[in-house]
Amino acid sequence: MSERLCYTIVSSSDKLIFDFCLPTITAGSRTIMVQTVAAPDLQFRPFRRERIRCVVAPLLDGTLLTVPIEMICGAADGPRLVVIAGVHGDELEGVRAVQMLSTAIDQHRLSGTVLLIPVANMAAFASRTRRNPLDNIDLNRVFPGRSDGTVSERLAYLIVHTLLANATLVVSLHGLGALGTLMPWMEFADIPGAIGHESHAAALAFGFPDLMPLPPLSGVLISALAQRGIPAIEGEIGGMGMIDPSNWRRYVIGVIQVMRHLRMIPDPPVYVANPRYWELHWVHTPAGGLFERSFALGDHIACGQRLGFILDPFGEQIDNVFAPCDGVAGACQMAASVHPGDPVALVWSPLQSRCIA
Ligand SMILES: [Zn+2]
Repeated sequence: MSERLCYTIVSSSDKLIFDFCLPTITAGSRTIMVQTVAAPDLQFRPFRRERIRCVVAPLLDGTLLTVPIEMICGAADGPRLVVIAGVHGDELEGVRAVQMLSTAIDQHRLSGTVLLIPVANMAAFASRTRRNPLDNIDLNRVFPGRSDGTVSERLAYLIVHTLLANATLVVSLHGLGALGTLMPWMEFADIPGAIGHESHAAALAFGFPDLMPLPPLSGVLISALAQRGIPAIEGEIGGMGMIDPSNWRRYVIGVIQVMRHLRMIPDPPVYVANPRYWELHWVHTPAGGLFERSFALGDHIACGQRLGFILDPFGEQIDNVFAPCDGVAGACQMAASVHPGDPVALVWSPLQSRCIA
């Protein structure tokens, strides 16, 4: 059987502008529709499989800012899992993982719906930056957004109020951007009650042994979701603007483990046996210059240990960077050039207490 790639372009007033189909592209037994719509239909229908571009807003140049999504429905209705990547435009391991999930999910073994969002922040993705260049805003600081706000605020509003509404669980996939690298960890919404409990259970199912309970934080996606009664977890892996298969495969496997946990596929769930709980301490450079690092990723760090020093343009050492606590080097900046206040290291310190119900 052939597969046709069809486009339907609909204006924000839901008036059909035009539609067309490309010639046959690949072998397959289904039609994948690529639609551009202002108000996406996200209803479950058995064996539905559809790609949609959801309109955020018309831009200055006359094009539409959109969010690409893929709806994958199983035979019977059930949980709704949303996997979102590309909230930051220079974190690409999650983007690749979501692309691969599209091909890895077998609808005939699936109960419920998987909604995939490979690139949430398309303008930031296109400019290869963390922030959205259209308003210089970090999308993961403005959730749940505003319907009448800046481009990023409108994007956040669409994501929370339409795309992620009614989710059973949301998995958000991040990384360390283009300038650094990190050891994998999983954050979960750490609030008392059922939502915190479900978020924690999903984090244990994902499979990363290093967990960060995330208290409610203003503007952060998983906090905004938890506040609306939606359990959520957020992974971190990789960096340097790369898509390393050893990293994105861990994300793909983790999402499949979460699908087992939600009973969306028939295989039994597996949980991390001995999780380690940490809190994050970002270390910022006091001065700009060249940062000469004196630690490696994964090193054990002692409080007060020198993590590196800053050189001015003449090569003079003008400042030092010290560890704020004991712990493990969980992330580091690899690019040597730094501005004052840039994060150059992340120390994980063992967590003393947390408020899991
Ligand atoms: Zn990120």
